[in-house]
Amino acid sequence: MQTNLAQWAKDSPDGKVIDEILRKCVHCGFCQASCPSYQILGDELDSPRGRIYLIKEMVEGQAPSAVSQTHLDRCLTCHNCETTCPSGVEYGKLLDIGRELIDEKVKRSFSDRLKRKILAKGLNSALFGLSVRAGRRVRALLPDSLAGKLPLARVPGQLPAARHARKVLLPLGCVQPDLMPSIDAASIRVLDAVGISAYDLPSRACCGAVNFHLDETQSSLQQIRHNIDAWVPLLETGKIEAIVMNASGCGAFVKAYPFHLRHDPVYLEKANYVVEHVKDIAEILAPFGAELGKKLRNKLPGPVAFHPPCTLQHWQGLRPLTEKLLNELGFNLSAFGESNLCCGAAGTYSLLQPEIAMPLRDRKLAAIDGGGHVNVIITSNMGCMSHLQSGTSKPVRHWIEVVDDVLST
Ligand code: SF4
Ligand code: SF4
Repeated sequence: MQTNLAQWAKDSPDGKVIDEILRKCVHCGFCQASCPSYQILGDELDSPRGRIYLIKEMVEGQAPSAVSQTHLDRCLTCHNCETTCPSGVEYGKLLDIGRELIDEKVKRSFSDRLKRKILAKGLNSALFGLSVRAGRRVRALLPDSLAGKLPLARVPGQLPAARHARKVLLPLGCVQPDLMPSIDAASIRVLDAVGISAYDLPSRACCGAVNFHLDETQSSLQQIRHNIDAWVPLLETGKIEAIVMNASGCGAFVKAYPFHLRHDPVYLEKANYVVEHVKDIAEILAPFGAELGKKLRNKLPGPVAFHPPCTLQHWQGLRPLTEKLLNELGFNLSAFGESNLCCGAAGTYSLLQPEIAMPLRDRKLAAIDGGGHVNVIITSNMGCMSHLQSGTSKPVRHWIEVVDDVLST
């Protein structure tokens, strides 16, 4: 499409990037069918093409409004449109830049700012674990929307000593150790079983995604730089060979560090170095599929549905690798329709946009197990797990927990 950027946009640090991305879009609309917010709301302005148009209008000089901001907020940043687009439009980058620009020009309502501030502070707080434990005790008194976000506690169990020569860092992140410590424990045990010791640094740190998606960009950048400063020396001195992620949302965000640090040449170089060493847990276990499969043969529950999170399939392109591994491990995977579509979790999205997130969850669960034939739903991201679990009595688990269950018995 043709563009005519306003002078302020041309002069902005991202002017060239915005222009290049916009020019690639031919307005064909192929992306519409893969857009979850468009599927639910049916409004062109809640689709990728509509949002691209809103961003184009803004950078061409039209004053953005709170209505435009709402349409951008309703995007789940699932990147499904990006993997569908035949023209290679980097929608995700355009949206991130567009959101930052619109937030500079349109002030959010007091209640919206307060909600975002509380979420950012609460999820990054050292007291988060305390709140989770207190919430579990009074679960029956909580509103359904909040109770659904508190997964039942699963005991993490004993951890092996770091005894192997191969070592990796397993950053435990911000909320997972309190909400679902069994995922990290299972990851450490399964890695140990194939000869890799995993550990985290004493001080837990968020990858930066929570703050970034709640408009706390500077805090997010601080967390990103903090992580890079902590990780680079470990990689450079050979104390670890990789940084392993067992939450695809965190892995996807960390792999996008170079984009977030695009205006900081010193950290950009370090970020590129870090990203070369970031692996999803499926990537690090892929060479061991057949070996582990022998130990798991006929012991896994079946049939099982694998929900590939958007951050795994659309952001990182790891769906084929993960499904190949799951097949080698012996999972009896049950196929289902619309597996490319977001489940509605999308980080804090399900808390901020429940009127879109809940129908998407129910649509996903109906597609996965409409016939009631599936025993367990497995996935690769704790956010998707707890969101889906809030709508079904069938167990929803990280696949690494299921593998660990069998190996540990
Ligand atoms: S983003 Fe891609 S698929 Fe969507 S309208 Fe533009 S060119 Fe077509
Ligand atoms: S990222 Fe997802 S929700 Fe956002 S426009 Fe693209 S397909 Fe729609």
